[in-house]
Amino acid sequence: MKPVRRLWLKAPLAILGDDASGGLVVEGARIAEVLGSGQQPTQPVDEVFDCSNHVVLPGLINTHHHFYQTLTRAHPAAINKELFDWLTSLYPVWASSVNRDSFRLATRLALTELLLSGCTTASDHQYLFPAGIEDALDIQAEEAAAIGMRITLNRGSMDLSKKDGGLPPDSVVQDTDVILADSERVISRYHDADEGSMCQVALAPCSPFSVTTELMRQSADLARKCDCRLHTHLGETHDEDAYCIEKFGCRPVEYLEQTGWLENRTWLAHGIHFDDGEIARLGKHGVGVCHCPTSNMVLASGSCRTLELERAGAPVGLGVDGSASNDSSNLMEGVRHALMVNRLTYGTAAVTHLDALRWATGGSADCLGRNDIGAIEVGRQADLALFTLDELRFSGAGDPLAALVLCGAHRADRVMVAGRWLVEDGQPVNVDIERLRREHGEAAKTTLAMP
Ligand SMILES: [Zn+2]
Repeated sequence: MKPVRRLWLKAPLAILGDDASGGLVVEGARIAEVLGSGQQPTQPVDEVFDCSNHVVLPGLINTHHHFYQTLTRAHPAAINKELFDWLTSLYPVWASSVNRDSFRLATRLALTELLLSGCTTASDHQYLFPAGIEDALDIQAEEAAAIGMRITLNRGSMDLSKKDGGLPPDSVVQDTDVILADSERVISRYHDADEGSMCQVALAPCSPFSVTTELMRQSADLARKCDCRLHTHLGETHDEDAYCIEKFGCRPVEYLEQTGWLENRTWLAHGIHFDDGEIARLGKHGVGVCHCPTSNMVLASGSCRTLELERAGAPVGLGVDGSASNDSSNLMEGVRHALMVNRLTYGTAAVTHLDALRWATGGSADCLGRNDIGAIEVGRQADLALFTLDELRFSGAGDPLAALVLCGAHRADRVMVAGRWLVEDGQPVNVDIERLRREHGEAAKTTLAMP
């Protein structure tokens, strides 16, 4: 049998890891050794990569996105609107213009953007299934595998349209039975819960205003039966609070409880408008929250109460959110935005660059229910993002780790997933960027001609 390759990432300029200034040894897909200052690997290595010019982070983990929305960035129908108006402007555009080819290109583009920003694991909340793209998650699984990234496929769903009191038009919802049958199918086909898994599945009804109570309940039951995770949008806007009170006679977290969602397999996107009692309940049950600072600022939705949630016991991760409300897929930018918006809430001493980086790594891993990624520690998967400080924006910077966040790092020089380099010298090894930019740009033009 061929011996597993051992690679020493030697003596980085800076590294986000305890007592790791000597670097780390990657053996196969895992981190085999973490070295303190001046330490040498205990066993011989096959290769040494000099990291003296690199700041090394655990690979960033994105816990909320809608890849298909890269087709409608800065869309004239939707810019300068808040969530409900923004959504009702875009639903018909998405329903009529996203096709099989453009969906695939949108997926490839979003994954590549994330990867180049230092992201190694992506979770995508895919709730739109226009005719002809019923196998959207299969396409996403193929694209992630081709690029080499880890993915959590979210089998999203909407079964409550305008005629039944929901927000989306009839054209974008599916029957409850169709959704549940396909949920079982994708779990059995793609959900790998093992250590080092490259593909997992979560069940993800879209939001209280687009999903029936029945589907919320049945999705939770199915997730328990199959032991996979649950995800949905919650607490994003005051409009949503008002909708819950009017339709269900309770606030959003009470609604979660009633539908069987209050448990630690659940993580929520946004989680902005929770009151003290709701935060305490979420924390008690270990429900995670994906903080989406960029999207929250673009749509003026509000500021997530990150520190209160963490103190209560709720894991906090980071997400870029869909590319129509970001309007990019750059997770390192999201780290910077998280620092800034949380400083407005909590002040300079309470939130540092290390907090923002923690949310994007360990916090996000907790949201996805994984303990094999999200940190530079012996035994974890070798998922790493390496940044240089060569651009003008970093010149004169003192603290290299702080500089990544404060000066605005946005593109990794090298990215590794499961011990394999997927980005070298700032370029993805498995994607032709020029071609992708051309093809995706052409595909996206068709959304401009729609109503
Ligand atoms: Zn979202």
